[in-house]
Amino acid sequence: MKIVNGNVFFKQKNKEVYPYLVENRTCNICIIGGGLSSLITAYFLSKKEKDVIIVEKNIIGYGQSLGACSIADIDLNAITKLKKREDIMKLYEVYKEARSDLKKMLDEIGVKYNEIDKYSYTNKIMQKGNMQKNINLKSQLFNVGGELIDKIEGVDSVLNIKWEDKTIVLNPGEMIQKLAKYLLEKQNVTIYENTEIVNVDPQYEIVKMVTNNNFFITANKVVYATGMDVLKTIDVNVMTYQKYTVVTEKIKENVGKEKVMCNFNADGGEYIQFLNSGNTVITGEDTKINMKMLDENYKESMDTSKYTKLIVQLNKLLDMSEYIDKGMCYSTIYAKTFDMLPIIDEIECMPNCFVICSFGHGTILNGIVGGKILRNAVNGLFTKEVRFFRIGREACIGK
Ligand SMILES: Cc1cc2nc3c(=O)[nH]c(=O)nc-3n(C[C@H](O)[C@H](O)[C@H](O)COP(=O)(O)OP(=O)(O)OC[C@H]3O[C@@H](n4cnc5c(N)ncnc54)[C@H](O)[C@@H]3O)c2cc1C
Repeated sequence: MKIVNGNVFFKQKNKEVYPYLVENRTCNICIIGGGLSSLITAYFLSKKEKDVIIVEKNIIGYGQSLGACSIADIDLNAITKLKKREDIMKLYEVYKEARSDLKKMLDEIGVKYNEIDKYSYTNKIMQKGNMQKNINLKSQLFNVGGELIDKIEGVDSVLNIKWEDKTIVLNPGEMIQKLAKYLLEKQNVTIYENTEIVNVDPQYEIVKMVTNNNFFITANKVVYATGMDVLKTIDVNVMTYQKYTVVTEKIKENVGKEKVMCNFNADGGEYIQFLNSGNTVITGEDTKINMKMLDENYKESMDTSKYTKLIVQLNKLLDMSEYIDKGMCYSTIYAKTFDMLPIIDEIECMPNCFVICSFGHGTILNGIVGGKILRNAVNGLFTKEVRFFRIGREACIGK
């Protein structure tokens, strides 16, 4: 995913500046990429390993992570798609543990978070049966209750579920910057910005890398946390979309009324987030990337119509007397794996190289899950849950 146009709401203004590489370096672990996946992985690795280097070709938090990711919620829809019930239960435990580890990490690095109400909503009256089925399924499998309610405060939808569990929300821009600073101050991590790894040569015991300015980094292990660029290195099937986001100006009546609402019919691809500040974020209108989008005029008019659709939809839903106009709009490219789970694995035919990538989805919790797996994997130990995230797992889990 990359930002195609528009300003980003969660961007952190007080950004630290990190140096670029001006010498050859050796290290124990080198992480390529400086987004959320990289920094969270570095957090776990650096607690056990000496000398971790992060190399980012742009600036820290510039890639997909620049988009918008403030929600750290367990994707129960993805988990329920697994075939075996025991796998569903196991994976749920993995993510529950990740959620509590995330809270510990946020406390340690000094990032505030809230745990807020979450809802599913629809305007399709015929969905009542399906919504009830969904509540029953989640409560049977995960013991996560929900109730069908007539109204969400301030919202004019037809059918709603209020879920019993809450979701964690935080400012991702703040998280990225504080995590990077923490890693530099408290752990043995070095960060280089504006330094691109242009060649990776994995050898029997070490990995040799070359940077764009012709310096060498030699590492015992390498972790690719390169976001969408990971597709240049590993062969996985993903579906690629354009995703649209609109953030309204502050709505006075909504200040302090934080909640997250997911469109029940959009398979998690569309959500509305009411922020504490009174700004409201609506994300959705996912459109498969196609050749026509190469035409800039076509793309521009499509973008405009998508933003308009989102704001019209939001106005229909908001129970407000006045029309709310768009504040910021941006569109991003992002990808989905077939099962919406991340890729966390060693890379075949590249000894000592590993990968962590969520593409456009749930990176905060996936980063925690991946960081913990990779902390062991770099020492040759693979915990059982890695089977859910392996490259080519279609075969492993019988899909
Ligand atoms: C609208 C929207 C809302 C979202 N909301 C949420 C949410 O609420 N919660 C959530 O958890 N997730 C959310 N996501 C998903 C999340 O934003 C992304 O999946 C995540 O930021 C990806 O992080 P990453 O570190 O894997 O990749 P990136 O942030 O893309 O980082 C990869 C980095 O690697 C660098 N790089 C690539 N190649 C090289 C190289 N050769 N040398 C050096 N550096 C290199 C790139 O420059 C880049 O900075 C959302 C996504 C979208 C589109």
